[in-house]
Amino acid sequence: MAVYLLHFETPYRHAQHYVGFTEDLEARLERHRAGNGARLLEVVTQAGIAWELVRAWPRGSRELERAIKRAGHSPRLCPVCNPEGCWRMRRGEDGRSRGAAGAGGCGAGDRG
Ligand SMILES: [Zn+2]
Repeated sequence: MAVYLLHFETPYRHAQHYVGFTEDLEARLERHRAGNGARLLEVVTQAGIAWELVRAWPRGSRELERAIKRAGHSPRLCPVCNPEGCWRMRRGEDGRSRGAAGAGGCGAGDRG
């Protein structure tokens, strides 16, 4: 199970991110690419807007998904929109980020 964050190349209306939850991330992304799986992705794909997977929480839960959505955390958690953000936690050491607690764990960089 995983929670994942997609970043749209161009905002669609007011949305530039999609947060989802899946048991099979690869299969889910395939479906999104085909324009299936989520209504927002469907219209975004139809509008010709490119998107990419920018983050994933491999052990994420639906609670995390909801917390991110509800709190509007997406841009802050997005490495494209917020390259200086708290997501930069020791990547590369072992390919995993520390403190994978997720959305609520970051209080730093809270500007704007
Ligand atoms: Zn973004």
